[in-house]
Amino acid sequence: MKYPHNISLIDIKLEGNDDFAAAYLMLQGGKAAFIESGTTHSVPSFMRALEGEGLTAEDVLYVMPTHVHLDHAGGAGRLMELCPNAQLVIHPRGAFHMKDPSKLQAGAEAVYGKERVAETYGELVPVDEERIIVAEDNHELDFNGRELLFIDTPGHAKHHYCIYDKTSKGVFSGDTFGLSYRQFDTADDIFIFPTTTPVQFDPLALKLSIERIAALNPERIFLTHYGMIENIQPYVKRLHDLVDTLVTIAHEHQDSSNRTTDISRDMLACFKREVHASESTLPDTEIEKLLAADVALNTAGLEVWLDYQQPA
Ligand SMILES: [Zn+2]
Repeated sequence: MKYPHNISLIDIKLEGNDDFAAAYLMLQGGKAAFIESGTTHSVPSFMRALEGEGLTAEDVLYVMPTHVHLDHAGGAGRLMELCPNAQLVIHPRGAFHMKDPSKLQAGAEAVYGKERVAETYGELVPVDEERIIVAEDNHELDFNGRELLFIDTPGHAKHHYCIYDKTSKGVFSGDTFGLSYRQFDTADDIFIFPTTTPVQFDPLALKLSIERIAALNPERIFLTHYGMIENIQPYVKRLHDLVDTLVTIAHEHQDSSNRTTDISRDMLACFKREVHASESTLPDTEIEKLLAADVALNTAGLEVWLDYQQPA
């Protein structure tokens, strides 16, 4: 999908799903940059996107994963192998993992198992240290004459930056400015919800990061999950309120013997109310299907956060 300002979306087809996880190709004066790097398996679709623009791997100057979770940075090493002139731009806390992805790989395997990690993300490839640019807070990058600003945005992950592109007045928000699937869109509203996934969810930091994005006054936000949204201001409050609601749900059930079930049930009910409030006509069964994986992951993240708040 193509957007104005020479930005296009690459669907990385995560776990075979359409319209669920994105990366972006940005063009500037005959050069290319990728925001997010998908998984190792999705790298061919990045190459096809370049070809579609009449460009080659040699034209890629930057690969910019917003953070080192594997649906964002998993394909970075392989992309860097294929794009000889590219530099990798990464958050200071993510640089180590790009040089040596063995810990990321082991961490994912501990959660999902070796087979599923291989199937979903493929093998992680290390990136040469000399090709890594560490983007501290407020780092400015001149992409062939296009100004990009990197801001530190913890809350979803401590190794997360967002990119403000002055040309499009757009923010590439990774997982910081919530998730919003286009299937829920109605004529004049969207459904958007914050992610509380493991293991670094921090509600206060997340709300501050959302504020920081809003303070840039962006005209559009490019979500990794999924696509571009506009008319941002109403969603700032909605995301704030939903972070608070999810934290309240977590606290309500923190001592429950069925904590996982209780939290996920109430979260799903909350999300369904939001979807209904947006006047979506999607049937509940479809809503449940679209949100099942996110509710499970969000619940797991809230539980990790609860345990961290209250050491046994
Ligand atoms: Zn993430």
